[in-house]
Amino acid sequence: MSQRPGFPIKLSNTGAGTGAGKGTATARKVPAGATAPAVQKPAGTQPKAASAQVSGLGLDSGAVRARMVRKLAEQGVKDPRVLDAMGRVERHCFVETALANQAYEDTSLPIGLGQTISKPNVVARMIELLCQDVPGKLGRILEIGTGCGYQAAVLSHVATEVYSIERLRGLHEKARTHLRPFKLHNVHLIFGDGMLGYPKGAPYAGIISAAGGENVPQSWLDQLAVGGRLIAPTVTPAGHQALVVILKTAQGFDRQVLEAVHFVPLKSGVA
Ligand code: SAH
Repeated sequence: MSQRPGFPIKLSNTGAGTGAGKGTATARKVPAGATAPAVQKPAGTQPKAASAQVSGLGLDSGAVRARMVRKLAEQGVKDPRVLDAMGRVERHCFVETALANQAYEDTSLPIGLGQTISKPNVVARMIELLCQDVPGKLGRILEIGTGCGYQAAVLSHVATEVYSIERLRGLHEKARTHLRPFKLHNVHLIFGDGMLGYPKGAPYAGIISAAGGENVPQSWLDQLAVGGRLIAPTVTPAGHQALVVILKTAQGFDRQVLEAVHFVPLKSGVA
């Protein structure tokens, strides 16, 4: 079992989920697997309370996140782009304050309306599959199931544009609130039924689903660019959910079934 991080001691004061302490995320450069310390203001340059909230939080969460990244690397995540992105995004800002102390453990967490944020390991694994054989930045990506917005934020660091669609209005709005302070201008949130994909952004270099269906919808296959890759939990003929990777080629589709996973169901319509 992993050791539970001491962080965040002061988090209940920080307004996690309201934006406090989040604006540094895009500015801070954390190399892959790095233990680079967050910028810390010299003592006495800020009012006491603000200093405890801002630099204290930034420092603690940076160190805990670096530990999470090291663990991801030990678990087999190799792509430096993915490790770098995982190190940048403040996962604790995407969950309820009461759960923030578990944000960097390898566990899925409830995000409201019966949905869950995937384990960091699963997020990293899926994004690594998406990046496979693509040099440099990915192009336009479609994410099905915005949820709390965490994975969209991670994707924003490895792709030029991220279109993320959510069918539950409450979560779509929550994700908007969570993402606003980070000013990730390449993330576009859409409220709608992701089973239809999002034709306006097509063709996509990659499609990644955070919800598992019986089949991969035809719309996703249609909206994938040739050379693009689709990663989705899908029910296999054996009746369990597994990660499916589909590569679109000029000749057709190459499909690979990987490990068993447990994702929330892909549902049609909006609510
Ligand atoms: N990537 C998310 C994980 C959210 S869980 C995160 O980082 O938090 C999966 C999400 O998929 C849920 O919010 C669920 O409402 C959504 N979902 C399920 N079916 C959907 C559909 N047809 N279109 C869009 N979103 C869908």
